[in-house]
Amino acid sequence: MILNKFSLKGKVAIVTGASRGIGQGIAIGLAEAGADIVGVATRDMVETKNQVEKCGVKFLEIKADLSSLEPIGEIIGKALDEFGKIDILVNNAGIIRRQPTLEFSVENWDDVMNVNLRSAFFLAQAAAKQFIKQGTGGKIINIASMLSFQGGILVSSYTASKSALAGITKIMCNEWAQYKINVNAIAPGYIATDNTAPLKADEVRNKAILERIPAGRWGTPADMQGAAVFLASDAGEYMHGHILAVDGGWLAR
Ligand code: NAP
Repeated sequence: MILNKFSLKGKVAIVTGASRGIGQGIAIGLAEAGADIVGVATRDMVETKNQVEKCGVKFLEIKADLSSLEPIGEIIGKALDEFGKIDILVNNAGIIRRQPTLEFSVENWDDVMNVNLRSAFFLAQAAAKQFIKQGTGGKIINIASMLSFQGGILVSSYTASKSALAGITKIMCNEWAQYKINVNAIAPGYIATDNTAPLKADEVRNKAILERIPAGRWGTPADMQGAAVFLASDAGEYMHGHILAVDGGWLAR
């Protein structure tokens, strides 16, 4: 039955940036579909834990700073100690820095690239090695952006990181599909979270953004849940290397 293919019962999902925003929404969505969740963030994740446990599944909190590669071994190790396997990785943790391109600082470049791209790549590599060791295959979902397709304004390192994330989604697909690993990305449109709060608060930018979204509203973290469950489940078994825009129609304009 097709709806059974969307079930994540018995699966284990690592979600980075699960403390708030899109990562929290996706963690809850995967939990509602039946997966146990390993949440990774620097802050505590009490709210996510409560929401996930309400679904009758387990939540393991791992406090880790993904601005360096140091915690990657620990994240995989702790997930395995608790659950004995990993089935799904959602590379969602991300930051943004706004500064004109002429003045863009090395610090703003490195900070964003380290979290959004470097750690995402090496965490995916570690997860893929584990999937291959398990012989089970697995699912990797990278959280891309409209700026995987477009240039943006004032956000050079963010655009670089998200364009590159779309690129590595495709190379990982090319090399890992043979191991039954599905690597895809979700490209959210404009979603109301802490990350976009300055844009939403800017009357001029907010108006321009809303005028361009055919759906006529900002997205919410819950709007990302359907795509995440699909790509994490057997229903998405033949999805490989795709960057799935969930954007209220933004890219269609
Ligand atoms: P957010 O509300 O600012 O949340 C960011 C998440 O990433 C938080 O859980 C944060 O955890 C975590 N994180 C940041 N730096 C970290 C680090 N060094 N180590 C570990 N975790 C870290 O942002 P969001 O809007 O939900 O964004 C989530 C993802 O979606 C990002 O990759 C973003 O680029 C992408 N995205 C967002 C939008 C949008 O419109 N909002 C659109 C396209 C793509 P802490 O609690 O530790 O800070």
